[in-house]
Amino acid sequence: MLAAVAAPQQARAAQACPRLQQSLPVPPPEPGSRPGAPAAVQASDYRHRIRPTHLGWPRRDIWCVWIEPGASDGPAARWDRRWRQAVDAALNEWSSLLPIVVVDDPQRAQVQVLRRRPPLRGGRASHGRAELELWKVQRDERWALEPRVLVSISPAQRLEATQATALHELGHAFGLWGHSDVATDAMAAVPGAQPVLVLSARDRATLLWLQQQPALGAGSGAVRPPEPAQEQKRPGGGEGRPWRMDSGSDR
Ligand SMILES: [Zn+2]
Repeated sequence: MLAAVAAPQQARAAQACPRLQQSLPVPPPEPGSRPGAPAAVQASDYRHRIRPTHLGWPRRDIWCVWIEPGASDGPAARWDRRWRQAVDAALNEWSSLLPIVVVDDPQRAQVQVLRRRPPLRGGRASHGRAELELWKVQRDERWALEPRVLVSISPAQRLEATQATALHELGHAFGLWGHSDVATDAMAAVPGAQPVLVLSARDRATLLWLQQQPALGAGSGAVRPPEPAQEQKRPGGGEGRPWRMDSGSDR
């Protein structure tokens, strides 16, 4: 459950979601290097359709999520509240499987949820998109590899459609980078006639399988601090472009 009580939530966020101190983009892999292999087919889920990054599975034991605040009064407030209600409902659904902490500072988050229409892609409009980058980050004086995910959810849909879009895009954000071929799954490539507002047994099984996989950088040892020449003083900054992938013109 997402806590409605502000004070314990803030204390938890400070502990579980430390603020970003420094960050460096993780560059793309060398040309010719191979991406990680997908999992073997399993009838009860769609794990074989989910792809890892070249540095492993972009999954976490706990996710810190920042949601773009809306207007608190004026004519936009009602619509912004409705959008937030849809995003909260989708997050709540995932939080039955994953520890999720909602933070009020984007520097504490790995996932940022933005209230905007995704930019056109190849002339195609969409209602949702998730974009993944890999960063080497320092928090609490320790360096680690982290996924950084931008989730765009259009404010221009009905409540139920917004909720279904948010459920799907958050699934990408939490590491499901691929699509199911069954329309009643939240992560279906092609949505059915009914918006999917709850996770299917297959969605749950796939996510629970993912949570058992080694996380980013596992096997390569601890992430070393960067050489002084590389160091960036700007939190969230860093020169160069990180490796990235996204969900395309989703939904
Ligand atoms: Zn998708």
